[in-house]
Amino acid sequence: MCTALIYRNLQTKEFGLGFNRDESFLRKKAKFPSYYESNNLKILSPRDGDYNGTWIGVNSKGDVYAILNLYEVKIVSIAKPISRGWLVSQLLEQKTSIQNLNKEFLRDFLPFRLIYLTLERTYLFTWDGKDLEIQQDEKDWQVYASSALHGKEAERIRKQTFEKNFLQNLTHNFTQISKNYLSCHIPEKGSLSPCMHRDVAHTVSQTIIYIQNRIAHLEYKDGQPCEEKDWTSYSLNLI
Ligand SMILES: [Zn+2]
Repeated sequence: MCTALIYRNLQTKEFGLGFNRDESFLRKKAKFPSYYESNNLKILSPRDGDYNGTWIGVNSKGDVYAILNLYEVKIVSIAKPISRGWLVSQLLEQKTSIQNLNKEFLRDFLPFRLIYLTLERTYLFTWDGKDLEIQQDEKDWQVYASSALHGKEAERIRKQTFEKNFLQNLTHNFTQISKNYLSCHIPEKGSLSPCMHRDVAHTVSQTIIYIQNRIAHLEYKDGQPCEEKDWTSYSLNLI
């Protein structure tokens, strides 16, 4: 369960990803974003509290990745599934590449949708447990969402929420638009709002990655987006 807002502007050469992480109350708290080096790259990402992988991050080449669960498909059980967060870390560290993603490689992963974002386009890899679909999208704005309760309906509603209430009035910068959209309770405070509230799960953090002038900026809010909590800011110079 998550919501992603994607933005790009080819004229000003800026792009970004705003992301709400929705999780069960049973999951451990994530670790705040940190910098580390691997494979001659610097990586900036928060860390999953359970498996030490990540669901979002950026590296010093300006590669941005994020992962959403895919709940719509029924999957035969996998004996020992590999953490999807591990895959994002491997991609950020360039220990594997998107070219390696195929049925054989992904056999032991539960279904997901992986976002790989560049200035020019968004790549969306959909793994349903059997087949891999790769889509490319060059839109200026795009919304992706996942929901254990509503499946694709959540994405349709959250996209509509953005187009009706935010896309018509773009007077702020991307970071502020992301914060406003991802913290809102439209159509109502609950399982379909970007700031998601349910009895078993909720939005646990918000991450905004924004790249401009060869610098990646990351802002992170630990907690429900509608709560009064401080943002933590980070930046990473690109190579
Ligand atoms: Zn809320």
